[in-house]
Amino acid sequence: MDELDAPLSSRLTAPAAALLAKELGLETVRDLLWHLPRRYAERGQLTPIRQLVAGDDVTIVAQVVRAQPPRRMRNRDGALMQVTLGDGRDTVGLTFFARSVRQFAHHERQLREGRTVLASGRVEVFNRSWQLARPDYQPLDDDTEDAAALADRPIPLYPATGKAPSWKIAKAVQTVLGATERVPDVLPAGVVAEAELLDPLRALRAVHAPRDRADVARGQRRLRYEEAFVLQTALAQRRAGAASERAVPRTRRPGGLAATFDTRLPFPLTGAQERVGEEIADDLARERPMQRLLQGDVGSGKTLVALRAMLTVVDGGGQAALLAPTEVLAAQHLRSTTAALGDLAAGGLLGGHELATRVVLLTGSMGAAARREALLAAASGEAGIVIGTHALLEEHVAFADLGLVVVDEQHRFGVEQRDALRAKASSVPHLLVMTATPIPRTVAMTVFGDLETSVLDELPPGRAEVTTVAVPMQNEAWVDRVWRRVAEEAALGRQAYVVCARIDGDDAGKEPDDGGGDEPPPDDGEKRRPPLAVSDVVEIVRHHPATAHLRTEVLHGRMHPADKDDVMRRFSAGEVDVVVSTTVVEVGVDVPNASVMVVVDADRFGVSQLHQLRGRIGRGGLPGTCLLMTEVPEASPAGQRLSALVATRDGFELARLDLEQRREGDVLGAAQSGRRSSLRLLGVLKDADVIADARAAATALVAADPALEHHPALAAAVADRVSGETERFLERA
Ligand code: ADP
Ligand code: MG
Repeated sequence: MDELDAPLSSRLTAPAAALLAKELGLETVRDLLWHLPRRYAERGQLTPIRQLVAGDDVTIVAQVVRAQPPRRMRNRDGALMQVTLGDGRDTVGLTFFARSVRQFAHHERQLREGRTVLASGRVEVFNRSWQLARPDYQPLDDDTEDAAALADRPIPLYPATGKAPSWKIAKAVQTVLGATERVPDVLPAGVVAEAELLDPLRALRAVHAPRDRADVARGQRRLRYEEAFVLQTALAQRRAGAASERAVPRTRRPGGLAATFDTRLPFPLTGAQERVGEEIADDLARERPMQRLLQGDVGSGKTLVALRAMLTVVDGGGQAALLAPTEVLAAQHLRSTTAALGDLAAGGLLGGHELATRVVLLTGSMGAAARREALLAAASGEAGIVIGTHALLEEHVAFADLGLVVVDEQHRFGVEQRDALRAKASSVPHLLVMTATPIPRTVAMTVFGDLETSVLDELPPGRAEVTTVAVPMQNEAWVDRVWRRVAEEAALGRQAYVVCARIDGDDAGKEPDDGGGDEPPPDDGEKRRPPLAVSDVVEIVRHHPATAHLRTEVLHGRMHPADKDDVMRRFSAGEVDVVVSTTVVEVGVDVPNASVMVVVDADRFGVSQLHQLRGRIGRGGLPGTCLLMTEVPEASPAGQRLSALVATRDGFELARLDLEQRREGDVLGAAQSGRRSSLRLLGVLKDADVIADARAAATALVAADPALEHHPALAAAVADRVSGETERFLERA
């Protein structure tokens, strides 16, 4: 067995090992040695207290400004001692409690004025001043140590908890690292030589006990490469596995359903739709299951590409399933698909085309009778196209011959779901995943490591102008103007969306069924009033003199699905003028007659979300107006996001900006339904080169040794990564 797989209890005292397991989930030597410092402090450099964020667990370097003599508490038993730390400009307080004054002797000795300490705790604001709650500390200028030798060494600061502060982790790491003699290298010798990387043990020493910043950089470079390589090896193995799977080839029939549909299109395909259509048709005609990611900006016409693929599969004797993230979208897909197909969707009905198939909807909230009918149509093969939500994945849903799965606008479709659908087909179905959120190449390589990518990089012609304006909410005259603008459009027979950041006073701002939902709202670290809710704004619209006469409805994820569907259907039919909603309309909703998008508290949304919302208008050749209402100043981070939206409608450009504004660690999170990245050092944006290099090397290695028989250390590392967190992470793919 690999030395790294040894349990920590074999290296540390039982209580120390138990603490690390309980607080941080660290079980093995590998776990601990890969628990890398988040950052490094320097003795001479005090942490700017100003930058602390309330609620964070922090470790700071600060100087003792004042240590008050311990005293008894006035109203309760016990005693307390207050200490003030400073950075030369601001201060932060620590309060220690004990049963009696005498128990503070140790703190009094350690926390003498003028000393520098490493202090940790949760940041709180108390009596208008900063506090570290449940504080702990470690003197830095301890004269028992060889102070001179240590003076300019960077101090590793670890991700820590209240009970396992950074310096306790550091101590455990030093103990384990000291007892570790050999760390087997997972990287092929050629790669190490080529990239001039440190050997693994030296790299671990360099990051955990650096002599200087250069040490840290050298160590991190090695470990970063290793991380990329292990991940790419896991993905290469997965790709190799997928390549050996068999699917039924499906080809278009001359004069078949797909061909007939094409001749009836009311507009020519865009060049991009044509090209991607060919790529997909080629994939479908192969014996190897298609694994394709289709990226295209909002409005680029992905649905049509998917529909043509589905018809091809029906031509080839199979069925297609279209998976939508929400019931609203699933219902809309049914409506638009049925409308687009006309008599081609009237299979088995009077007046149906001779080639016609059937399109059915299957969602969790359908009535029993309708549901039974849909299930039957899917199982008998009568329905060539089955549209639904995740209800399609349930066990009792059966298909006669499932040939293609299309996943619309979401990233929540992973290996598990693929397996669930696979179980419904006698062979592996082809897979097409569609997304409007552009995914940078390296993220695609990492998160979607086993998918090939097609890009719809062209919008259909005749896309109307959309004017975007940021409206200061403090300015009553401007706000008034917003509602009058909505009324003006309604007078022309157009419709408006009004989107809010939450449903009502009760919710914490989270939608249970929020369509996109794959982007955590940005946290700019500013304290602001709670955002206006749908329930507030609908009252405003219904009572404002300009809009009181309009037909206004609400739409959000907590409504009964039938009611949601009813509102959406009436909005589509033009029977509703204004929909006040949450982000349920964010993704995919297509009502060409809607020409105004008002976003209330627009600063609470991310760039991609706002871009998606804006994509709901300017669809039917009608010029659109997007009004972003906000209270934040233009210079703030949120204000800059809004300025970018005002400046451009290019989704790829905006996505780049969005990714830049997010912290690197959040990038994968954004691409995976808000889940935090499990990567430690690797940044999917900044380390694009490393990822590409590692991918090439890993692919070559797996091609030569698919089971990693000759690379036991690598196999162990892959097994470790693929278990637990990483398994879930890969499954997001
Ligand atoms: P998205 O890629 O955002 O899902 P949709 O598939 O909803 O975009 O398409 C947006 C609109 O553009 C739809 O109303 C669709 O009918 C229309 N459309 C799609 N392809 C074309 C085309 N080649 N020419 C004109 N309009 C098109
Ligand atoms: Mg769409």
